[in-house]
Amino acid sequence: MAEVPAFNPPQRILMGPGPSGANPRVLRAMSAGLLGHLDPEFLKIMDGCRSMLRMVMRTDNAVTLATPGTGTSGMEAAVMNVVEPGDRVIVGVAGYFADRICQMAERAGGEVTRVTAPWGSAVDPTDLERAVKQAGRVKMIAVVHAETSTGVETPIEPISRIAHENGALALVDCVTSLGGIPVEIDAWNVDVAYSGTQKCLSAPPGAAPVTMSDEAVAAVRSRETPCNSWYLDMELLEAYWDSRRTYHHTAPISMIYALHEALALVLEEGLENRWNRHQRNGSALQSGLEAMGLSLHADPRARLPVLTTVGIPGGVDDAEVRSTLLNRDGIEIGGGLGELKGKVWRVGLMGESSAPGNVLLFLSALGRILRSQGFLADIRASTDVARQILEGPGTA
Ligand SMILES: *Cc1c(COP(=O)(O)O)cnc(C)c1O
Repeated sequence: MAEVPAFNPPQRILMGPGPSGANPRVLRAMSAGLLGHLDPEFLKIMDGCRSMLRMVMRTDNAVTLATPGTGTSGMEAAVMNVVEPGDRVIVGVAGYFADRICQMAERAGGEVTRVTAPWGSAVDPTDLERAVKQAGRVKMIAVVHAETSTGVETPIEPISRIAHENGALALVDCVTSLGGIPVEIDAWNVDVAYSGTQKCLSAPPGAAPVTMSDEAVAAVRSRETPCNSWYLDMELLEAYWDSRRTYHHTAPISMIYALHEALALVLEEGLENRWNRHQRNGSALQSGLEAMGLSLHADPRARLPVLTTVGIPGGVDDAEVRSTLLNRDGIEIGGGLGELKGKVWRVGLMGESSAPGNVLLFLSALGRILRSQGFLADIRASTDVARQILEGPGTA
């Protein structure tokens, strides 16, 4: 018999672009004994997830479920089910994840038009509108609500209005926004949306909430060709999630427990309280970074509180800073992605990780490392301004 040493992961504060820290109650829920995927007690938990997802996503959509897999599985379910060969698809692209939507839509046979904006700004709705008018008949307009590669929020309402005025469906990536900033699926008239468990919902990666409006469901039902993905075919998934309970895949039992507990935590905290918490901690971090002498990359009119991109000052070693933060301070942050590689750090304050103590700890740790590399970070000014915001009016 081989002796295999036990794995004890080191303690980390997860302040990167995901995963964020899981809530201890979620981890406890995951360690509960397994049930069969058709056990009536398990089906109750699935139903609970459905109804809580509707509350958290602010929708009455009948088709609201969680796909097995990380956020990308939700993206693939959304895109692959809606897009048929030859369909025109318009995607607002100002970051890495929007480009992933384009790649999927192309694999589904769609004819994709990318409407771009610089990485750091939001896509301009008038540019999208112009592209729709030029394209003629459009099946879907897709955008990323919270672009994790740039730290930018794209307002959804104007874009879904353009989609509907032109007979198209509106698809929105809510992976990084759900549970952190307002997401209003019905009020914004969004047809297809998906998220993930590992960003602002504070659960491990492994399930992806997906919701579809009746119009989107009708479009999926009237496809001429079957969905290119069997595993993520929404009609097959729905037949398991609704009262038919038709076997499709073995539900990731422990992940469904995790999602259930994570959603309960969101509702216990209250959506507004949760959005306010993320907003306050994000503002404290951003003001603290600026007071330190650093510059923020994202357009100030569209900055996300849950993910901050901060410019790496000249003469500072990107990899060295991140590895010192990780190995000495136990704090993980992310490097730049795509065209921002080597130019920015990405600091997440999502879900459980969005806490005042993390903001202050990170600012002082980063300030020390920057000073050791010759950048004169004003640590005192930074933590003072952050503390003022954290302790300001409205503090819970
Ligand atoms: C993280 C993320 C994804 C992908 O989710 P995974 O869990 O990594 O598969 C998709 N879109 C956005 C905006 C994200 O932040």
